[in-house]
Amino acid sequence: MAEKGGISVQTEHIFPVIKKWLYSDKDIFLREIVSNASDAIMKLSHLAAIGEAKNIDDNYSIWVVIDKEKKTLSVSDNGIGMTEDEVKKYINQIALSGALDFIQKYDSDSADAKGPDGIIGHFGLGFYSSFMVADRVNISTKSYTDAPAVFWTCSEDGEYEMVDGDRKTRGTEVTMCISDDEAEYLEKDKIASVLDKYCSFMRFPIYLEVVGEEPPKHKEKDAEGNEIEVMDERKPINDTEPLWLKNPSQCTDEEYKEFYKKVFFDWNDPLFWIHINADYPLNFKGILYFPRLKNEYESLEGQVKLFYNRVFVADNIKEVLPDYLLMLKGVLDCPDLPLNVSRSYLQGSAYVEKIANHIVKKVCDKLNGMFGTDREKYQEYWKDIKTFVEYACIRDKKFFDRVKDSLIFRTTDGEYLTVAEYNEKANKDKTEKVIYYANDPVQQAVYINLFKARGIPTVVLDHVIDSQFITSVEQGFDNTKFMRVDSDTSALKGEGEADKNDALEKLFKEVSGNEQLKVEFSPLADAKIPALLNISEQSRRFEEMMNLYKLAGQDVNPYTLPKETTLILNSNSQLLKKLSSASDETAKKLAKHIYTLALLGHRKLSAEELAGFVEESSEIMEMLL
Ligand code: ADP
Repeated sequence: MAEKGGISVQTEHIFPVIKKWLYSDKDIFLREIVSNASDAIMKLSHLAAIGEAKNIDDNYSIWVVIDKEKKTLSVSDNGIGMTEDEVKKYINQIALSGALDFIQKYDSDSADAKGPDGIIGHFGLGFYSSFMVADRVNISTKSYTDAPAVFWTCSEDGEYEMVDGDRKTRGTEVTMCISDDEAEYLEKDKIASVLDKYCSFMRFPIYLEVVGEEPPKHKEKDAEGNEIEVMDERKPINDTEPLWLKNPSQCTDEEYKEFYKKVFFDWNDPLFWIHINADYPLNFKGILYFPRLKNEYESLEGQVKLFYNRVFVADNIKEVLPDYLLMLKGVLDCPDLPLNVSRSYLQGSAYVEKIANHIVKKVCDKLNGMFGTDREKYQEYWKDIKTFVEYACIRDKKFFDRVKDSLIFRTTDGEYLTVAEYNEKANKDKTEKVIYYANDPVQQAVYINLFKARGIPTVVLDHVIDSQFITSVEQGFDNTKFMRVDSDTSALKGEGEADKNDALEKLFKEVSGNEQLKVEFSPLADAKIPALLNISEQSRRFEEMMNLYKLAGQDVNPYTLPKETTLILNSNSQLLKKLSSASDETAKKLAKHIYTLALLGHRKLSAEELAGFVEESSEIMEMLL
């Protein structure tokens, strides 16, 4: 048997396209060749299982061998092999593989073909992608049947030749004669890293070998106690039983953690994880981990690896996961994705949308589940997941609706309360419910204590994301509003009248240095507090938002007060009552002092203010002596 021909009939463009358009993503040739080897073994094991192939030893394996001297890289398998007819059909007529489709889809005129970004990976170009790195490729194959062995060789210009082969055992060896420009594919480290990226979880053991390299050895003692060198047991480069394919009920916490550390090189344990094992109607599996995060936006960057039947396809597929889930780390195996996957396909795909929805649902279920069954642990994790959960709620109303009853808020006393629990404690029988919060519990301590004295807890919302969070979720809770402790002094009212006093109003406007300052009188419950600042919640939030949008470099003055700030003078305060009858000079000194104390509950003093405050304080102390 001898046949010559040119791989050019239906596909005259294929070789230039392979070289040109796939150039910068050429690592994937190895994935294609190794996948073919794995498929070939899979086919044989299937035939053996149904009795079509008899007496098959199932010591299945794939060998990737580098021969630096011959400048070849070969991949061999002991799978199904090919007969002469099969080589003709499957290899020579490449139109049968995905190649022709590929050419049509990514014809060099189409915009999608411009560079690797337009192509996600598994485009089914298959065997011929080997020509991205090789100037000649040989196939030596023998079918599992009695058919004679075949040797096929093809040069980079598409001329092939097929003759009788000399392979004695079933299987296929694909040998790529690496072009001079691509010599890196003869380096062990390079091949190991490509295999590690794409083939880490393939079904059959894959071994990497370099011709002439001494296999690793270790020392042992023989029966007589002499030290001898023994070859290490060969280890495949892949994990043939990826955890995500196992039944979740059979996986231990240790296994999940180990898998996480191995795949993501993270020394820290993940917080918790979700094992997705969807069979019907969606067929995909995976494990998503919640990494331990700091409460910062910056760290909201995870890594989700997408697999197609155990073969790595791509990282961080924004199209498959909503952006707020991209901080997760994990693996997703979606065997129903079509072979020809492009980003634009993923964007509009109903299947992908279903996957995304399913994942979101699973994440919510996990949070609700933990909240319901292990509240203590959930609270412990909360500081790590809070930012993520809040961000997800802001981004996705559906997410919020699902988890809103499991959202918890830490109070200044270290307790964790849901909105319902807070309302039960502090807003019972009230139609308009208010949740009081502090964004700086130290500064706002006076207010917090006033609320505490009335049995009202204050929750801490001190992250940059918090103000946006409450603004976007507030409406989701019935008749419940969030208000900062310094924005609702009306809640601190006690008995008595709000005695208006024009002289005091004038005095305080004067000492504040702010003629526009609004001054009001209110009988506060706590007579010890002469004055408080009340800063309108809505206008403050609005100003905060505007500040957020300010251009970089456009500094926000930290010493101004929001426009709608009111100085509340306590009509129940004995100090204020006495102030009315004090001498002008004393009244002024004390009023200034009282105003500064009120200011301290809101912001830091400027250097000038602080110096003045210290001086006034000592003057007041002198007055006492
Ligand atoms: P695809 O894998 O997408 O079908 P390929 O071009 O990679 O396209 O391969 C074409 C065909 O060649 C395969 O479908 C298979 O029938 C055959 N083939 C390729 N590699 C092997 C192999 N190692 N052993 C047996 N058959 C193979």
